[in-house]
Amino acid sequence: MSEKYDVIIVGSGMAGLCCAKEALANGLKVALLEEQMFGGLIINVNHLMPGLDAALTGGADLASTWVSELSDLGLDLTYDGAVGLELSEGIVLQTATESLRARALVVATGARLKRLGLEREEALAGKGVSQCADCDGPMFFDQEVVVVGGGDSAAQEAWVLAQFCSKVHWVHRGAELSARSDLAQAARHHDKIELHLQTEVVSLLGDDFLTGVELKNSSLQPQSLKCQGFFAFVGLTTNVDWLSGQLSLSAKGGVLVSENLETSYPGIYAIGAVREGFGGLLTHAQADAKRVIQEVVRKLTEDD
Ligand SMILES: Cc1cc2nc3c(=O)[nH]c(=O)nc-3n(C[C@H](O)[C@H](O)[C@H](O)COP(=O)(O)OP(=O)(O)OC[C@H]3O[C@@H](n4cnc5c(N)ncnc54)[C@H](O)[C@@H]3O)c2cc1C
Repeated sequence: MSEKYDVIIVGSGMAGLCCAKEALANGLKVALLEEQMFGGLIINVNHLMPGLDAALTGGADLASTWVSELSDLGLDLTYDGAVGLELSEGIVLQTATESLRARALVVATGARLKRLGLEREEALAGKGVSQCADCDGPMFFDQEVVVVGGGDSAAQEAWVLAQFCSKVHWVHRGAELSARSDLAQAARHHDKIELHLQTEVVSLLGDDFLTGVELKNSSLQPQSLKCQGFFAFVGLTTNVDWLSGQLSLSAKGGVLVSENLETSYPGIYAIGAVREGFGGLLTHAQADAKRVIQEVVRKLTEDD
């Protein structure tokens, strides 16, 4: 077993990165683990919504600035995924290669975009089906695409795609959008975006590559629409499989936390997109990170 940390943070999206920074600022001995890319969900978003650091234009900039600040502060950034927890004698985190012991643990493993669940969706992934407007948008230059969803991400990404595509069909099954009004207005008033309310995509067409979708609304039989790209932004699913049921989850799969962000196991906390009740924005992830480190410091001081 390797050395004991004051706090181990699992996941280096914006919640985990910010948490590590706060922990270091408070003099804690910290380990930060990441299994994929430092920055998490936001690294593919080139057009961040207002309210964040004005000097930075995109998520990748924001993440890389924070990662280099953390290494300047001496943090050991570890490329290793958490695979389980051993809780019989204190808190022990298992990774693929080692066991790490900690006085406190912060779960910041975030979430990933849901698929719509259509039959050919997986088979056509990378062949017209995408979930990253900023990365894949240029591939659909002057072509028609379909965006599904009624929330902030769908509105934001429809607008991004309209910068490249000849037409964006924005499809939402509800009668009203749930996106923030400024984002919804920006997308709705874009001359290349056509909104289809109370409409569902019922199937994807195409053998080797996407060639269209089948749409259904209350008044029509399914009708096909030609398009080359398909982007579903229909919510997130939390990254909790590695917890193997050891912490209580909500029916939606979010880690349940108390007022002070503590989970059902004392000394283990959850912040950001992985937790139930998360506000959804980077500013909320930052606020969670600050709050949780205040709580960890309070608890560790009490225990000493
Ligand atoms: C399309 C889109 C656009 C958005 N645009 C904006 C915007 O403009 N402004 C804004 O404020 N918010 C925006 N958001 C919301 C914002 O991205 C999230 O609030 C924020 O990124 C959540 O950060 P997080 O750290 O909680 O989770 P995540 O970003 O999901 O990070 C979790 C990290 O944990 C890692 N991880 C997962 N499992 C393990 C494991 N077992 N071991 C180790 N590491 C693990 C993942 O690889 C990931 O790096 C957007 C979201 C989406 C989907």
